[in-house]
Amino acid sequence: MTSASATAGAALPQERRLVTPIPGPKSQELMARKNGAVAQGVGTVMPVFAARAAGGVVEDVDGNRLIDFGAGIAVTSVGNSAEAVVRRASAQLADFTHTCMMVTPYEGYVEVCEQLAELTPGDHAKKSALFNSGAEAVENAVKIARSYTGRQAVVVFDHGYHGRTNLTMALTAKDMPYKHGFGPFAPEIYRVPVAYPYRWLTGPENCAEEAAAQAVDLISKQVGAENVAAIVIEPILGEGGFIEPAPGFLPRIAQFAKDNGIVFVADEIQSGFCRTGRWFACEEEGVVPDLITTAKGIAGGLPLAAVTGRAEMMDAPHVGGLGGTYGGNPVACAAALGAIETMRELDLNAKARRIEEIMKGRLTALQEKHQAIGDVRGRGAMLAIELVRPGTKDPDAQLTAALAKACHAAGLVVLTCGTYGNVLRFLPPLVIGEDLLAEGLDILEGALSRNA
Ligand SMILES: *Cc1c(COP(=O)(O)O)cnc(C)c1O
Repeated sequence: MTSASATAGAALPQERRLVTPIPGPKSQELMARKNGAVAQGVGTVMPVFAARAAGGVVEDVDGNRLIDFGAGIAVTSVGNSAEAVVRRASAQLADFTHTCMMVTPYEGYVEVCEQLAELTPGDHAKKSALFNSGAEAVENAVKIARSYTGRQAVVVFDHGYHGRTNLTMALTAKDMPYKHGFGPFAPEIYRVPVAYPYRWLTGPENCAEEAAAQAVDLISKQVGAENVAAIVIEPILGEGGFIEPAPGFLPRIAQFAKDNGIVFVADEIQSGFCRTGRWFACEEEGVVPDLITTAKGIAGGLPLAAVTGRAEMMDAPHVGGLGGTYGGNPVACAAALGAIETMRELDLNAKARRIEEIMKGRLTALQEKHQAIGDVRGRGAMLAIELVRPGTKDPDAQLTAALAKACHAAGLVVLTCGTYGNVLRFLPPLVIGEDLLAEGLDILEGALSRNA
């Protein structure tokens, strides 16, 4: 047995178990306390409180064991409390918790940056800077691109999601719930179409070409390519609906950026670190971003984020221009090294591809039975179904919410997403057992036959 193949929470049986209704009495009690003490803006997908989690299971405070198709929003790809994460983070906790990278630096930070240089696409010289959250990484990618180019404009895409800070709200497409009432937003942000095959008006065939042409036209005519510092895109759009841009779209946009001296930024915060069956989703089409932002899956659940990119771009900001008190915290760095060790040892890219094989087959079969499933899409363990009114492409957010609720009641953690709120997304930990995957899909199938 390799050191990474066991999880610290291995004592948690890998099985679904319902011992109370969902939510149980202890969760209800905690929810009442939450409502009294926590701002309501911090919503929850499920009304149950976690007590333990490992592998593909989350156990709640009432002793119910839920099958996890959410991984804390694509974070615990290596599983909760993965052995190498706990081992390395615990050792670091005992040695020191914080000195601040900007005061007396430490090796773990450097080692994470070395790993990022090795794992991200392209064999050019690379450097990284570490931060606490995805939004902070995206903000810093924009700072770096502006500093490098001396330009101000930033181009983003329909259905894009980049975070909840002021700048990243401006980069994010969807008003409710992310932006509503929170303006004014940062200036010099321009949004252009993305190649969304299922909803492209002329159909999926020419979607990549037409969407890229429209995007380029808008940038050239309305912004001026020479004013653009960065184009920021998710290689698979996450919160916006797990949209895979039609093949050919990303390379076209990357080429346009290159031809015009624009920094091409791949936001791989959700799609990175083995999630799609590759270290990074943009590898699928051989796209090499100038800068790449990572977070979520990087550290097995501890807060860490990074910007990695061409050394000459990363070195554009002056000394002291990048940083933050906690950025690249030593415990989070140790956890990241443990997570990366686990990904390599367990070959989690292969696991993600296997999850796709199992889940996509079942989801496609379900689509044949249920007209409400308009589209099945995604790669690796980043999969989704888009729900519509039968015979149309009208988004069915109500059905989506009802299905999620039915799954939750049956002990399956699923998340929704999408600009129209009509996408059910599946993001299991990559270490989930195949029996749990199958059982989760059975629950979804049952929910569909009762609701759709
Ligand atoms: C989650 C996410 C972010 C924001 O990350 P936080 O850690 O929540 O700030 C940015 N971009 C993408 C693509 C994301 O999925």
